[in-house]
Amino acid sequence: DVTSPALTLTHRFADALPEMAVPWQAEDAPAPRLLVVDLELAAELGLDAEQLTVGLLTGTEPPSGATPVAQAYAGHQFGGYSPRLGDGRALLLGEIDGRDLHLKGSGRTPFARGGDGLAAVGPMLREYVISRALHALGIPTTRSLAVTATGRTIRREELLPGAVLARVAASHLRVGSFQFARATDDLDLLKRLADHAISRHYPAAEGDYVAFFDAVVAAQAALIAQWMLVGFVHGVMNTDNMTISGETIDYGPCAFMEAVDPATVYSSIDTAGRYAYGNQPGIAQWNLARLAESLLPLFHDEQEQAVTLAVASLERFGPHFDTAWTAGMRAKLGLTTDPDRPLLDDLATLLRAARVDYTSFFRTLSAAARGETEPARALFLDPSGFDSWAERWLSLAPDADAMDRVNPVYIPRNHLVEEALAAATAGDLEPFHRLVEAVSDPYQERPGLARYAEPAPGDFGPYQTFC
Ligand code: AMP
Ligand code: MG
Ligand code: MG
Repeated sequence: DVTSPALTLTHRFADALPEMAVPWQAEDAPAPRLLVVDLELAAELGLDAEQLTVGLLTGTEPPSGATPVAQAYAGHQFGGYSPRLGDGRALLLGEIDGRDLHLKGSGRTPFARGGDGLAAVGPMLREYVISRALHALGIPTTRSLAVTATGRTIRREELLPGAVLARVAASHLRVGSFQFARATDDLDLLKRLADHAISRHYPAAEGDYVAFFDAVVAAQAALIAQWMLVGFVHGVMNTDNMTISGETIDYGPCAFMEAVDPATVYSSIDTAGRYAYGNQPGIAQWNLARLAESLLPLFHDEQEQAVTLAVASLERFGPHFDTAWTAGMRAKLGLTTDPDRPLLDDLATLLRAARVDYTSFFRTLSAAARGETEPARALFLDPSGFDSWAERWLSLAPDADAMDRVNPVYIPRNHLVEEALAAATAGDLEPFHRLVEAVSDPYQERPGLARYAEPAPGDFGPYQTFC
């Protein structure tokens, strides 16, 4: 089409780091069908409707001149180290405007090991809707451009329709990318990787690898605080699923916490609760320690000095996290100055003891700031503890309107995600589109969407996610 200029992708990653980029092609999609596309994101990338072909979005017809690659990385999975993970079912098509255009579910690559290289419609739509929700909540995240059904049937516990997710990210550099480079013992490769990451994400740290590491620590501390503030449980915080950019990545068995409980786990494979809601800050810091180990040779020629620098940076995670968490809580509580610690700690204790629905609590609280305390009180079996906490909080003159601008009404509720994915897998995308519509405008209460604001009904039972 003459009105659609050809799409030109750049390949900075493959150019700078050929040792970590295996040129590869997507598998054929026998009957491709676009299921959902984020047109706002497409516009941001300067892509028009004509350019958004299923050939592009499944990788079967990459733009001319494009060199899709599977990226190599290593990683700790549930604490155990795997030296060779990499994109087993994914491809980096290239970069548009400095951002990665990446496909997931596009077929086996040399990193596939025992996997089939494919992805099912359900999990790819889950990544689409939950990443869209996080973005709408103002949380750094990779974005989902589109999900395309391939027409291929894939084998899991049952037969499922296959799909490819087209994903956009600041980059796909992971903690595991650095672990891979470090494990090669090729210092030049490690340095090139760090320089590539610095130029893409932290240009102010040019030539200073400790400053680079500091910046990653700060970005991740801020990110995890934001997850905690909305009750997001990532579910599989392996080091290969943690970005250098500070964006949320690799939505697998993730979900939003309802009843407040730090031990909340949804993933069927996280039997030990390693990645429980309340463990996420500690795990992030653990992952960053693995990044520090990988970067040590760049910090200082003397190992001992390098370790000292790494430890000092790692120790800043806690203060960074606390600052971001406290600022977030101050906003959620409608306050203009930082609340004192006991006010926050007492609230956490109350919510946990009563297993209150985390998201709806804060909307009932803005009603309380307007003098309507009953909806909040009704969430507690014994409201006396809440009453005395609320008296202290109300004396600080919270701003109810400001609260409603930061506390979402609509998050992807677990039972509604399941309902939408089950319907989509069976061929009906309506519930999915309605859910996307609700969560992509999370703060403004709208008529007709009451069920999107409520926690799962009691008969939904304990929730488990599979990936
Ligand atoms: P994840 O748990 O999705 O972050 O993936 C961990 C590793 O397993 C990555 O190296 C993936 O590329 C790989 N992987 C996951 N599922 C598949 C699959 N169906 N086929 C091939 N590789 C896969
Ligand atoms: Mg080429
Ligand atoms: Mg992953």
